[in-house]
Amino acid sequence: MQDKLNLMIPGPTPVPENVLSCMSKHPIGHRSGEFQEIVQKTTKQLQWLHQTTADVLTITGSGTAAMEAGIINTLSKGDQVICGDNGKFGERWVKVAKAYGLNVKVVKSDWGQPLDPNEFKMILEEDTEKKIKAVILTHSETSTGVINDLKEINSAVKSHSRAITIADCVTSLGACNIPMDEWGIDVIASGSQKGYMIPPGLSFVAMSKRAWEANASSDLPKFYLDLKQYLKAINKNSNPFTPAINLYFALEASLTMMQKEGLNNIFTRHARHQKATQEGIKAMGLKLFTKEGYGSPAITAVQPEHVDAETIRKSIKNDFDILLAGGQDHLKGKIFRIGHLGFVNDRDIISVISALECSLDKIGKLKAPIGKGLAKSISVLNN
Ligand SMILES: *Cc1c(COP(=O)(O)O)cnc(C)c1O
Repeated sequence: MQDKLNLMIPGPTPVPENVLSCMSKHPIGHRSGEFQEIVQKTTKQLQWLHQTTADVLTITGSGTAAMEAGIINTLSKGDQVICGDNGKFGERWVKVAKAYGLNVKVVKSDWGQPLDPNEFKMILEEDTEKKIKAVILTHSETSTGVINDLKEINSAVKSHSRAITIADCVTSLGACNIPMDEWGIDVIASGSQKGYMIPPGLSFVAMSKRAWEANASSDLPKFYLDLKQYLKAINKNSNPFTPAINLYFALEASLTMMQKEGLNNIFTRHARHQKATQEGIKAMGLKLFTKEGYGSPAITAVQPEHVDAETIRKSIKNDFDILLAGGQDHLKGKIFRIGHLGFVNDRDIISVISALECSLDKIGKLKAPIGKGLAKSISVLNN
């Protein structure tokens, strides 16, 4: 059957009908008063989402554009930085930093394990000459379903150095609490196709005062992603280039929906769905990949030990039209990942848990009695 696909991957995420319909009209002029009103409104809404009074700039580009912008607008050639790397997106940070000639020290953890805040602390303490200019990390590591302790790592940065903290919050923003000002995070990168509930194409960079101070001396090459141009433009409720105008219509609609729901309700909903998913998975006899207590509110990674992960994933797709994500790199065939980020409700969780039990039963690999996983998920949702 057509048009029944339920995206349960960690981006792109499902888009509400109301948001979709806002996009299906002719673009308007990006220098028009009408568009300026949208820029003004969405800029305020973005500050609300980031819990900040800092500048939040919108770029037409995917999440990686925002990550790259964070680096090239604050750092200079040869700068010493620390990059946290415990998955595919941590690796991406290292690649971007190296591409621009930064002097990168990598703090690693195995995939599925969180970054260790103490390791950051030690390196920062040893840096008595305060040469480290930035600590760069992924908050929710989408490839493994791990949430890193951004708050703790950032507080180590703040107490031991003058470095700025640059965080990829692409799958954590809009899923869990990230009070940018209260924690003192300097740069936050995010992308539209994740917690924002709109299609891919926009990304966002929030820049603290300290990040702008670093910008003043930053000499890395930049043009399209030169954030000074974006700052100058938003001060006139505008954009330096032609933005993805129709995505702005969507952005305004989705942020308005989010404001109606309220930040705390959004975070509680994600935490509840995460727990219902995790508990249901365990109750049906499957193993979670991510270290206990470090699961991301956006995504649950499952490591089935007695059956190929791709077999389950394909069967869920074929029989139920629910799209799950597979494992990346060495985890291909070893894990599958369930996205529960953004426009997700209880029905989605109940469907995916029942679909999993049904598929496992069909191939004779369901370890627990039928319905045990679902019963557990329901008890989490109802309590
Ligand atoms: C999706 C994602 C990105 C951005 O990827 P793009 O394909 O460039 O949008 C960055 N970091 C994380 C953790 C992600 O999940």
